[in-house]
Amino acid sequence: QRMLSNVARWCCEQGWAGFDWAVGLPGTIGGAVANNAGAHGWEMIDNIETVTVVGPDGAERTHDRDWLQARYRHTILRSPDPAERLPGTIVVSVSLRLGRGDAAALLALADEHADWRKEHQPRKPCAGSIFKNPPGTWAGLLIEEAGLKGFRVGGAQISPQHANFIVNVGGATAADVLAVIRHAQGVVREGRGIELETEVEFVGDWTNAERGARNAE
Ligand SMILES: Cc1cc2nc3c(=O)[nH]c(=O)nc-3n(C[C@H](O)[C@H](O)[C@H](O)COP(=O)(O)OP(=O)(O)OC[C@H]3O[C@@H](n4cnc5c(N)ncnc54)[C@H](O)[C@@H]3O)c2cc1C
Repeated sequence: QRMLSNVARWCCEQGWAGFDWAVGLPGTIGGAVANNAGAHGWEMIDNIETVTVVGPDGAERTHDRDWLQARYRHTILRSPDPAERLPGTIVVSVSLRLGRGDAAALLALADEHADWRKEHQPRKPCAGSIFKNPPGTWAGLLIEEAGLKGFRVGGAQISPQHANFIVNVGGATAADVLAVIRHAQGVVREGRGIELETEVEFVGDWTNAERGARNAE
């Protein structure tokens, strides 16, 4: 599975325009399709023409873009709603709709995006944006306004640089990260009446970590 950022940079080098926004975004092409990943005002669905998947029956099928039912950081491939989600369906290829452009100009744009990330996002280990942006505002702004920049449980800290990132400042456990998430959700809910929905997915059994997070509150 190709890395999204490498494909995006390759497109720029070849003079294929409209995919520069994905340079610097971590992860694979398949993950970006499933998440409808996005940056700089663009998201994956803007570029998708068709997507080819292998289903649990082993059959390969090609669908047009509407099949994904994409919206902000959402497709049927990773929907939290079990009635909607398609378990065991794997993206194996995607065809992109791109224009033609000047390779040098596109590469300059790609470098700008990469520099923007270096300037605005923390360098310490993290999972990217923790929360989805609620309609009309930014999760990071709400957390920052709640005075939580730098808030820490164990080795997990709300980044002093960007409040929608939780960084590992040393020895953070998944339970530490969960405790920070639940604390931020609680403070923002209480102060602003807004429910912060996680952008990251929880995989596996979190029962003990949830108990620990409640005790830390
Ligand atoms: C520093 C940092 C910055 C980030 N910045 C951004 C950003 O600007 N914008 C953004 O949208 N995200 C951002 N992210 C989050 C993440 O990089 C993206 O969501 C990315 O698309 C995840 O891709 P992945 O291959 O790692 O998928 P994973 O995290 O491994 O999987 C994500 C979901 O996709 C599913 N999936 C993965 N591959 C496939 C496949 N082939 N077929 C079907 N389903 C699949 C998984 O089952 C899972 O449900 C950032 C993360 C980090 C660490």
